[in-house]
Amino acid sequence: MISSRSARPLIIAIDGYSSCGKSTLAKQIAKELGYVFVDTGAMYRAVTFYFIQHHIDIDSADSVEVSLADIHIEFRIIDGANTTFLNGKNIEKEIRSLMVSELVSEVAAISSVRRKLVDLQRKMAGSTGLVMDGRDIGTVVFPNADIKIFVTADPGVRAQRRYLELMSKGQHVSIQEIVSNLAHRDEIDTTRADSPLRQADDAIVLDNTHYTIDEQFDFVMRYVSKRLQE
Ligand code: C5P
Repeated sequence: MISSRSARPLIIAIDGYSSCGKSTLAKQIAKELGYVFVDTGAMYRAVTFYFIQHHIDIDSADSVEVSLADIHIEFRIIDGANTTFLNGKNIEKEIRSLMVSELVSEVAAISSVRRKLVDLQRKMAGSTGLVMDGRDIGTVVFPNADIKIFVTADPGVRAQRRYLELMSKGQHVSIQEIVSNLAHRDEIDTTRADSPLRQADDAIVLDNTHYTIDEQFDFVMRYVSKRLQE
């Protein structure tokens, strides 16, 4: 582990397209530095899961606003893994389903939802360092983040990785369903009016199409180590 004790704790923002391996990278960096890791996609997924479970009409601003008051999201470490809890229940498995993936970008485009989650995300920055991944971390949540990384990869490679990940978790979906879901989410995420996905001007771009997980980690840690010495 790199010693980050003497250095000022950093806020590291990792943004990018769906299924680019942002969370994998963010988790590795957080572990290496002893920082807190926050997967903001899981928070939008948790809200989506709640709306599905409670049959909330997402086109009704009132219904959405009222139900947001009943949504409490937290992360707990279970068996060493960051785990998402909604109103005290472990929903980590449910939020990764295709059913949630198919609606999450519509939900994430709703301004009242974003306001609530961005507020929560800002409160997660404490006295220790933070690695947060999502779509608007370097642009909206922490525009003054110390390090901003924008991750991208070839869409075919992303779909293949996602397919293998879901298969390994016992979720059987076709590669075609994944390709169309990723395209659908990228389209909504980049074109929505509120906080669209875009590269922050001061972000470094990481195209990991031809990188292994270890190679991308080494690439980013070289940069992070330099910043920690400053
Ligand atoms: O990161 P993940 O793919 O799990 O995110 C699920 C969805 O949540 C994204 O497709 C996007 O619509 C939304 N999201 C967002 N802003 C974030 C994180 C995720 O809009 N900061």
